[in-house]
Amino acid sequence: MTTPPMAASEAPETGTPARRRTVQTHCPYCALQCAMSLTVTERPGEENAYETAGARFPTNQGRLCRKGSTAHELLKSRSDRITAPLIKEDGAFREADWEEVLDLVADQVRTIQSEHGKDAVGVFGSGALTNEKTYAIGKFARVGLGTSQIDYNGRWCMSSASKASTLVFGLDRGMPFPLTDLNGACTVLMLGSNVADTMPPFVQHLDGVRDKGGLIVVDPRRSATAELTADGAGVHIQPTPGGDLVLLLSVMQVVLEEGWADADYLTARTNGLEELRRSAAHWWPERAQTATGVGADQIRLLARKLGHAAHAARHGGDPVFILTGRGVEQHRDGTDTARAAISLALLLGLPGGGMPGESGGRRGGYGTLTGQGNGQGGREMGQKSDQLPGLRMVADPEDRARVAEVWGVDAADIPGPGKPATQLLHQMAGPDGVKALFVHASNIALSAPDAGRVVENLRKLDLLVVADFFLSETAEEADIVLPVLQWAEEEGTMTNLEGRVLRRRRAVEPPEGARSELWIFAELARRLGAPSAWPTEPAEVFEELREATRGAKADYSGLDYAMLDDGRAAYWPVPSALSSGETSMTGEPVIGTSRMFSERFAHADGKAKLSAIRPRRQNQPRAAGEITFTTGRLMEHYQSGTQTRRVPALAEAQPEVYVEVHPATAAQYALSEDGYAVLESAHGQMLARVEVTDGIRADTVFAPFHFPGSGTANLLTRGLTDPESSMPEFKSTPATIRPAAPHERPAPEGARAPEGAAA
Ligand code: SF4
Repeated sequence: MTTPPMAASEAPETGTPARRRTVQTHCPYCALQCAMSLTVTERPGEENAYETAGARFPTNQGRLCRKGSTAHELLKSRSDRITAPLIKEDGAFREADWEEVLDLVADQVRTIQSEHGKDAVGVFGSGALTNEKTYAIGKFARVGLGTSQIDYNGRWCMSSASKASTLVFGLDRGMPFPLTDLNGACTVLMLGSNVADTMPPFVQHLDGVRDKGGLIVVDPRRSATAELTADGAGVHIQPTPGGDLVLLLSVMQVVLEEGWADADYLTARTNGLEELRRSAAHWWPERAQTATGVGADQIRLLARKLGHAAHAARHGGDPVFILTGRGVEQHRDGTDTARAAISLALLLGLPGGGMPGESGGRRGGYGTLTGQGNGQGGREMGQKSDQLPGLRMVADPEDRARVAEVWGVDAADIPGPGKPATQLLHQMAGPDGVKALFVHASNIALSAPDAGRVVENLRKLDLLVVADFFLSETAEEADIVLPVLQWAEEEGTMTNLEGRVLRRRRAVEPPEGARSELWIFAELARRLGAPSAWPTEPAEVFEELREATRGAKADYSGLDYAMLDDGRAAYWPVPSALSSGETSMTGEPVIGTSRMFSERFAHADGKAKLSAIRPRRQNQPRAAGEITFTTGRLMEHYQSGTQTRRVPALAEAQPEVYVEVHPATAAQYALSEDGYAVLESAHGQMLARVEVTDGIRADTVFAPFHFPGSGTANLLTRGLTDPESSMPEFKSTPATIRPAAPHERPAPEGARAPEGAAA
């Protein structure tokens, strides 16, 4: 299968003055980046009509989920769209023109930096931005503003798996193989990921493994993905939230003790086995069952199932894959947990498809399932506090020198590493924190851990500038709002969860008052007297980005827009425009590397690095009356819901926050189905409608994090972070739950707008 040509087509509609235009592009939401046709019908004097339809592409095979198929609704929301820059005066916004607002921002930045230093201004980016904007925002922070204080919301999504992959493989590409490789698997172990809700077209790649009874889902909830294991399709294992690390160590203990490990592979392709063996040896299943909530027999069965499958794969059988998601990564030991999942895959001889040069077929591998639309590109183009474009490191002299050369600045003028996201926001406005913040495509008032504290800090800033296309809850807090382009109004590239680089195409004209961030950065850099060139066309920025990543781990230098427009399958690293000679499972010629590590891992010696993994803490029993609060996503909403809560069909389907409670927990705390509960942690409280289900553990409750106001799940979560990745512990918060008192419940239906509905 080849990707369809990505060109716009125009045709007059017979018998009417309407013009229809169809553009091939990709969904605005998640990292599956489903291909879609967006058709725009223009009739004089009427609002445009829009349609979306799934297009042929390996990740989605023509399908779209409910979010993708309604994405065009965002283009209609013109009344709700920010169409002019806004300046807050006396607590209310007034419209302004661009000259006024950019002059004001530049003046205030100059004043704040002259009083408090360059690092008094911070920048917060997003995994939703195109590669070009991600590249430009990192450059704007370091060259335009001269600040080290930049990080982004992907710190809360991908940082643990990213760190673990870097430590073990020497490189972070979420899935180092194409998604279609899963189609032929005999066994897939999926830890902490609910793809059936978050990226439904993914599920078709699990059909084969389900037919073979080989899908294993590890999740404290019987999620929609866990339901896929029913009727003999696989196994659902329900550990306590945060029990995954010990579970994986215990599975490794059994694999090593019972001889399932692939000794030849481990000798040829890894270092550090003995260190890992010693640390896993402490976690025999009978010891691990208390810490994990999973019985010793089930742990042994899991290890043997994986061992059998991997052994068969070594001898020409179908491959075995281990995949992780945020459920196991968003913990204060998320890096160790992802490292344990990778280590288990290595013990079984899977990553890289097996032994170098092996002719007996591919054995499988490890991957992490990136969440945000450009979650992969977003973490490699230089908006991370410690990184420069191409996965180069801010602290590495050679990396600094190369990027400085491209930027035309002195390497000494590039600031050092800044604070990671949670620390940046939690220290904001304090003695060691930034006094001004630029926020781009991120709704931190809802998505940050301990969100109440973040909102308090935002209100204390000397200057908050938010660039967005809707007035998000964060934008409402801003001093200045800059209206920017959304998805179908811009050109650019995105990098999907497989490391495949894709073209995003402009299908509609943006509102007259909206501007691209590329233009905004250029205008502000000019006003601030910054050095370097500041191109404003995405294709020009891509050319610069190619140079900045040349020779780096995430090398895009061999790519250009023309190749992507031809629908070529390009997976980084792409040091050369030449086809690698590889073809994908669907027969596409591949540029770059779709399957990584087949000959060597990315460390200097070519080997993967195993090492000891020792849990720094074990799940403490909750105090009397406490439960574990965990969060996640619904099928109908995306991230903080800034976009999806504005799509009528999605808002109607999921209009308000709810909390899933086990029947025993409901009985214990006198909660009733469809009643309201107050959840409270040391940081805040939230109100949620109760859904009673036996699909969740009795010691755990779950709420989605898409909703604002009193339904903001992150009012409860805390700023505890993983010391290696700075990932917050979103998935395990001690909390209490009780029925809401009459005065705390929402007003009856009809007396209120549905929470989360379009403004
Ligand atoms: Fe595909 Fe994700 Fe968009 Fe759904 S939200 S259509 S799964 S890219």
